[in-house]
Amino acid sequence: MKLKIAIQKSGRLSEDSLKLLKECGIDIPNGTGKLKTEASNFPLETFFLRDDDIPKYVEDGVADIGIVGENVLLEQKVALTTVQKLGFGKCRLSLAVPKGVDYEGVSYLAGKRIATSYPTILQNYLAQHNVQAQIHEISGSVEIAPSIGLAEAICDLVSSGSTLFTNGLKEVDTVLKSEAVLVASPKIAAPQEALLKKLVFRMNAVLKAKRTKYILLNAPNDQLDEICRVLPGMKSPTVLPLAMEGWSSVHSVLNEDDFWDIIENLQAKGAEGILVVPIEKMIV
Ligand code: ATP
Ligand code: ZN
Repeated sequence: MKLKIAIQKSGRLSEDSLKLLKECGIDIPNGTGKLKTEASNFPLETFFLRDDDIPKYVEDGVADIGIVGENVLLEQKVALTTVQKLGFGKCRLSLAVPKGVDYEGVSYLAGKRIATSYPTILQNYLAQHNVQAQIHEISGSVEIAPSIGLAEAICDLVSSGSTLFTNGLKEVDTVLKSEAVLVASPKIAAPQEALLKKLVFRMNAVLKAKRTKYILLNAPNDQLDEICRVLPGMKSPTVLPLAMEGWSSVHSVLNEDDFWDIIENLQAKGAEGILVVPIEKMIV
């Protein structure tokens, strides 16, 4: 009995998908050129597929779970459960027009031709904004459509925006923000569901650890109360005496989001020798 997972064969999500499974302690033999492989230390079978095929395979139950971009899921309107956001493959589906265009809002697009590989998502977006435009579906190199006279605007995936820039386009509106997600089949059987639960437990520990740092610092004892007040900790900070009289070592965990604010605050309160180290797994 095995849990079957579908991941992208080669592309922007491949490396991070394999890395996440590895960080969950699952060793997947190098799959170059293979369609499927079995993990050596977890009952997991991995299918390597084109990302566009993943939702269908998972919906049909050929794979129990899959890793795919939210953009692909929404475009295909398949009935899958999103189990977890994975924090990688972040991008946005954006509208872009030639640099010189005076774009003042979505209404600019009324009656225009828009080239995209995401007609469903774009159509919904336009409908929400009461705009009628002609959607031209093309499967690749969407960014060249305006320069060859195929469309006045495009709707495409962007991460840094450099591809748009080199094609003389500017990003004007965000239609969707997307990242990779773990999805599960509506047909998943009970034993596989139990394995999924185990996998999700591990993924949570890995993902939580990525967002958190372990911090160690030295504090003069008369400042300890003040400093501990700044540090949240899992329960509360650990305080250990230093060999040097009048000083303590304080250990705690910090959330990445408010990290720099807290560090500044700690320094202002007399903390010294601050060390910040990554956490590999975090089980709370
Ligand atoms: P496949 O051969 O599997 O069909 P693809 O060319 O459709 O691959 P990729 O370009 O590898 O797909 O992108 C896979 C996913 O990575 C996208 O669906 C999206 O969720 C995410 N992604 C992140 N950043 C970007 C980006 N800048 N451009 C395109 N996709 C991105
Ligand atoms: Zn694809």
